[in-house]
Amino acid sequence: MIASPLLPHLTGSWGGTSRPASDARTFDVVDPATGAVLARLPEYGAAAATQAVDAAVAALDAEPDAPTRRRWLLGHAEQLVAERDELARIITAENGKPLAEARGEVEYAAGFYREAARQLDRLEVFEPPERPRSLRWQIHHRRAGVAALITPWNFPVAMLAKKLAGALAAGCPAVVKPSELTPLSAIAVFTLLERLDLPPGMVNLVFGRAAEIGAVLCARPEVRVLSFTGSTGVGRLLAAQCAPTLKRLSLELGGNAPFVVFEDADLDRAADALMANKFRCAGQTCVCSNRVLVHQDVHDAFVARVAERVGALQVGPGDRPGVQIGPLIDRRGWAKVRDHVADAVAGGARVVVGGGPALAAVAVHGGQAEGASCFYPPTVLVDVRAGMRCQVEETFGPIVAVRRFADEAEAIRLANDTEYGLAAYLFSGDPARLQGVAARLHFGHVGLNTAAGPTPELPFGGMEQSGLGREGGLEGLLEFIELQTCPIGDE
Ligand code: ADP
Repeated sequence: MIASPLLPHLTGSWGGTSRPASDARTFDVVDPATGAVLARLPEYGAAAATQAVDAAVAALDAEPDAPTRRRWLLGHAEQLVAERDELARIITAENGKPLAEARGEVEYAAGFYREAARQLDRLEVFEPPERPRSLRWQIHHRRAGVAALITPWNFPVAMLAKKLAGALAAGCPAVVKPSELTPLSAIAVFTLLERLDLPPGMVNLVFGRAAEIGAVLCARPEVRVLSFTGSTGVGRLLAAQCAPTLKRLSLELGGNAPFVVFEDADLDRAADALMANKFRCAGQTCVCSNRVLVHQDVHDAFVARVAERVGALQVGPGDRPGVQIGPLIDRRGWAKVRDHVADAVAGGARVVVGGGPALAAVAVHGGQAEGASCFYPPTVLVDVRAGMRCQVEETFGPIVAVRRFADEAEAIRLANDTEYGLAAYLFSGDPARLQGVAARLHFGHVGLNTAAGPTPELPFGGMEQSGLGREGGLEGLLEFIELQTCPIGDE
C-alpha cells in the first residue's frame, strides 16, 4: 500500500468534503511495475456523480473575481512545484513512467495554471471602437457554467491541469473524473487544492464506475462543458450522450502520428527527435509517433541510427535510477502491443531490435512472472505495410514501425492516410518543403524539424477524429467561456 502526506484520505470529495463510499464497492489501484496493490478505493457511481454535480451547481453562487481566480491559479502552480517530487513518486507508482518524466510532468502541469493566470486579462470586457447601428457594444466573457473534466491515465496530473486551469480561470465549478488506473495522482492534487481558499463545490472529485458517472455528467443540463481526453470511441459516446443537453465539447482523442523523414533531412537530428518523442511514457502518449515514414534513399541509414539508440534504452521500474522505459499501464495495453508486433511480423515485417525474443529477459525487471509483467522491450520494425494493425490503430507502446516512401507526394498521401489528425512531424533540409507539406496535412500539431509536443502557452488539439477544441494558451480558457454580446441603447 502507498503512504503519502498527499494522500491523507483515499476517497473522492465533493462540496469541500472528503466522501467515504455509500456502499461497500471498492476497486484496487495497482503498480504496473510490480503488480502490487497500492490502494483500495471506493467505487463511486451515479449517486456520487449526482451529488458532485449538485455541489458544483451550488458553487455557482460564489462568483470569484479575476484577482481571486488569478491567486488560486498561481497558488496551485506554486503548490505543484513545491510538491513536485512527492507527486512524481505517486505518478510513477500508479502509472509506471520513470521518475524524471513524472517530475517533468508536474512542472509541465504547473505551466498550465501559470499560463491561465497570465491570460486572465484577456477575459475582460471588450468594447470595440466602432459603433455599428449607432450603438455602443460590449462583449463579455461569461463563464459557461459547471464543467465536467474526464481525464486519462497517461499524464494523470498534466491532463487534469490542462482542463482545470481553464475551468478555474473562467470561474467554472468543476467535477473531475480521473482514470480509475491513476486516481491517486488526482487525490493528491485535490489535497493541494483543499489548502487554497476555494469555495465548497468549486472542485469535486469522483471515480469508480466510469460509464455510470459519465452518463450522469453528460445528462445533467447544468453541466455546460464536457472536457474529455481519452479514446476516440469513448469521445464519440460522450458526444452522443451530451447531444440532448447541447453542451460545449472539448475532446482530445486518439492520434496516429506520422513521423516523416525526407531524403534531405539531418538524420541524426531526426533520430534524436524520434527517440525523445516516441518513448515518452513508454510510447503511451497521443502525440507519440505511430508511423515512421522514411524516404527510400535514406531508409537504411536512418534505421541504423534509430536501432542503435533503441538498443541502448534502459527498461525497468520507473523508480530505479537510469531507467528510461517503464512498464506499460496494464496487461491489456501490453497485450495490444504484443498483438500489433505479432500481426506485423505475420504480415512480413522484420524485427530489427526488440520484439518477442527479448521479452523473457525484460519480464524479470518487475520481479513478476513473465505472464503477469507489463514490460515490453523497445522494438524497431521495418518493412511495415499499410493495413497492418500498427498502422491503422494507435499502438500505444514502445514500437518504432518504419515504412518507406518514394517521393513527396507519396509521403503526404501516407501521412494523411488515417482518420485521426492530432500530431505529425516532418524532417527535411528544405524549409519551403516543410511549409508546403505541412499545409497539406490534416493534423492539428505539425513539428517541422522538431518533435516537440504541446506547451502551456499555445493551443493544442486535433483535427478530424482526434477531437474538438484546444487546450493551452488563450484558446484553452475560451473552452469554458460563453461570449455575451451587449448592444447598449440610450444610457
Ligand atoms: P484508455 O483506453 O486510454 O484508457 P479511455 O477513453 O477508455 O482511454 O479512458 C479515458 C477516460 O475516460 C478515463 O477516465 C476513463 O475512465 C473514462 N471513460 C471510459 N469509458 C467511459 C464512459 N463510458 N463514460 C465516461 N467516461 C469513460
